[in-house]
Amino acid sequence: MLELDSQLPGSDLRVRVLGCSGAIGRGVRTTSFLIDDRLLVDCGTGVGDLTLEEMARVDHVLLTHTHVDHIAALPLMLDAVGSLRTESLVVHALPATIADLQAHIFNGIIWPDFTAIPYQRPYLRFEPLAVGEQFDLCGHLVEVLPASHTVPAVGYGIQAASGWWVFTGDTDHHLPFWQRINQLPLAMLVIEAAFSNQEKQVAKVSKHHCPDTLIETLAYLAPPAQGRIRVGITHTKPSEAERIRAEVTAMGVPPHVELVWLETGMELDF
Ligand SMILES: [Zn+2]
Ligand SMILES: [Zn+2]
Repeated sequence: MLELDSQLPGSDLRVRVLGCSGAIGRGVRTTSFLIDDRLLVDCGTGVGDLTLEEMARVDHVLLTHTHVDHIAALPLMLDAVGSLRTESLVVHALPATIADLQAHIFNGIIWPDFTAIPYQRPYLRFEPLAVGEQFDLCGHLVEVLPASHTVPAVGYGIQAASGWWVFTGDTDHHLPFWQRINQLPLAMLVIEAAFSNQEKQVAKVSKHHCPDTLIETLAYLAPPAQGRIRVGITHTKPSEAERIRAEVTAMGVPPHVELVWLETGMELDF
């Protein structure tokens, strides 16, 4: 059934990189991608660059996991535009992610419980999802992909006219992820490389990639029938971004990979 679904024609899709860094600093923002204009994938500090009108237009957020670099702007965005909207913002995430957000963020202490207020029309609604699930969202077919991180985490695939835009989320090497995405015609894979090789041990315990493990895991990416697959690198720690880039360049990627170093503000059409 998934095979059939993955053959459905997708519609045009625009991805705007709001944030693609592992931390903050002038000019760098944490993870968030705006899909067309109504859907966000993760809600890091990059969301703060949207105008109020752009933020108010967002109806759905797909969260990969609870880490603060991926959710930092969510509480603030709800407060900024909740009153401008006529519907609750729908946040899609694993049940464990939802439970943690309710217990530790929207708990009335760190931030209001926007799933209950304003009483007449709460600003926020959670929608649980599961790995392997496919559903339509904002005119695109979405698939929840497996990931391996220190907390429950997922990646996402979104079908576009030219193939699937796939985001790993935060993860280390995870065979089920490759097994699934090798069945999809890919338009682009966005994969994380958080640390340089000198922090390989930190990368290992925090379940992130460094250039060594990135190159190892990319070996699992099946070559396409023709041409190369665009692979976007994200989540580089700003203090090590140059080093990570130099290490990956020196090691070299598989011949069917076309590397793209993501930057804040980049717009990609599929
Ligand atoms: Zn994380
Ligand atoms: Zn992260």
